Amino acid sequence: MNKVRVRYAPSPTGYLHIGGARSALFNYLYAKKCNGDFILRIEDTDIERNIPGADESQIKDLEWLGIYADESPYKPNEKYAPYRQTEKLDLYKKYAYELVERGLAYECYCSEEELAEMKENQLSNGVKSFKYDRHCLHLTKEEKQKYIDEGRKPSIRLKVEDNADLSFDDLVRGHVKFNSSDIGDFVILKSNGIPTYNFAVVIDDHIMEITHVLRGEEHLSNTPKQLEIYRYFGWEPPKFGHMTIIVNEKGKKLSKRDNNIIQFVSQYRELGYLPEAIINFLFLLGFTPKDNNNEIYSLKEQIETFNLEGLSTSPSMFDVSKLKWMNSQYIKLMDNEKYIKSISPFLDKIDYLKDKFTLTQRNELSLIFKQELNTLSDIKKEFDDIFIANDEFNQEENEILNKDSSKLILKTLANRIQNIETLNKESINSLFKEIQKELGLKGKDFYMPIRIKLTHKMHGIELYNIITILGKEETSKRLISGLIY
Ligand code: GLU
Repeated sequence: MNKVRVRYAPSPTGYLHIGGARSALFNYLYAKKCNGDFILRIEDTDIERNIPGADESQIKDLEWLGIYADESPYKPNEKYAPYRQTEKLDLYKKYAYELVERGLAYECYCSEEELAEMKENQLSNGVKSFKYDRHCLHLTKEEKQKYIDEGRKPSIRLKVEDNADLSFDDLVRGHVKFNSSDIGDFVILKSNGIPTYNFAVVIDDHIMEITHVLRGEEHLSNTPKQLEIYRYFGWEPPKFGHMTIIVNEKGKKLSKRDNNIIQFVSQYRELGYLPEAIINFLFLLGFTPKDNNNEIYSLKEQIETFNLEGLSTSPSMFDVSKLKWMNSQYIKLMDNEKYIKSISPFLDKIDYLKDKFTLTQRNELSLIFKQELNTLSDIKKEFDDIFIANDEFNQEENEILNKDSSKLILKTLANRIQNIETLNKESINSLFKEIQKELGLKGKDFYMPIRIKLTHKMHGIELYNIITILGKEETSKRLISGLIY
C-alpha cells in the first residue's frame, strides 16, 4: 500500500480558526497513526481575500499546538513543491488546456452580466439550482474571434457528463450518492488565468500524491465535481471523509461572527489556554474514542487512539465550559517550574505586583493559586480580589456579613490576629480553633464571613494562605472595615 499522505490546506485569509485547527489535528493524527506524512498546503487563489502574513501565522499557531507539518512552503520536498497555489498558475493552465484539447472542457466568453441574467431567467422559470446553459460549448472560430475583438477573455468550463454516477464511499458518512446531471458545466480556470478551488485542489492532491482527504462537511458538495475531474484525467482519487460541523450551544453552526465563542487559536493563547488542553478538547470534538471513559489524552495518546471509525456522524457541540475545565486540568498537571514559566507573562502585566513583591515572592504567590485557575489569565482576578480592597459586596455576601455572629467573628479575629507572632498555617489555624471554641461557631458559619471580607468570594484558596499574603495589619483592617456595630 502507498504511504499515507494527508494534507491541511488553509486559505491565508486570516488567523487559524478553531475549526481549521480541528481539521488539521485529525489529518495530523491520521498521518502519524499510519506512519504517513502530514502536508501543509496554502490555497491562496482567492487573491482579494488573502491577508499578508496569514500563512505564517497559521503555521506558527499550528506549531504552538504541537502540530508540525512534514512538508510545507517552509519545509518543501522538491518532488512535490511548490506548496503555494499561486506559485504554479502555469501548471493549472496547462492541465486546463489539456482538457480543452481533449474536448472535455471549453472556453466560455460569457460576461458576468450575461451569466447573472441567465441565472435570473432560470430561477424565474422555476429552476431550483442554476446550471450554465452551454452557450459557449459549440462556438465557431469566428464567434470566438468576435468575442476576443470585443476585449473578452475566456474562462474554461468543464464539460460535465450527462447522467454519470459520481457517488462515492465517504470515510465518515458511508455511501454518498451524486449524479453529474445535478452539476452544471463549472468554471475550472477563471478568465484572469487563476484556477478555481475545485480544479486546483484536484491537480494538487494528485501531484502531491495525497491518499486521504479529511475535511469539513461544507466541502461535501464539491466532491462530485472533483471526482469528475479525476475521471477526465484518469487519475485515482484519494479517499474522502467529510467531518461534521461544529455547532454552538444553541445548535447553530459555529460562525466567525459568533461572539459567544472565541474563534481563533491565537486568542486562546492570549487568554492563557494551554496548547495541550486545546488539542485535547478538539480531539474529543467530533471523535469518540473506543474506551470512551477517559477525558485526558496527550498528543501521543491521541495518535494511538485515533481511527476513522470514531469520527462522529452528527454535529459536534462546542462546549465552552468543558474547554475551561480541560484547561484547568492541564494547569493542575503542570510541574511547578513549567507553571511559573507559563504564568510569568501574565504576572508581568499586573503592575502593583512589582512594587509589593520580589520576583521569587511573586512566583511563590502564584503557586498558591495553581489549583484555582481555569486559564492562566485568571490569575489577575485572583490577585485583584485579594490585593485590591473594596467594601462593595453583593446581596448574598451582605446577608452573611450582616449576621450578628459574623460581625462578632470578624471583630474577634481582627483583634486576636495582632497577637500572633509569626503568621503561618499552624498559627492561623490554631487561632481559628480557639475562636471557634469560644464563640461556639464553626464550619461555614465561621469561615464564610472571613473569606468574603478578605476576598469577595465564597470559594477559593485556603484562608491561612490569604492571611499570610495580606499580613496582620491589612487583614485586621479589612476584617473590620465598614462594620457597623
Ligand atoms: N482551502 C480549502 C478551505 O480552506 C480546503 C478545502 C479542502 O480541504 O479541500 O476550506
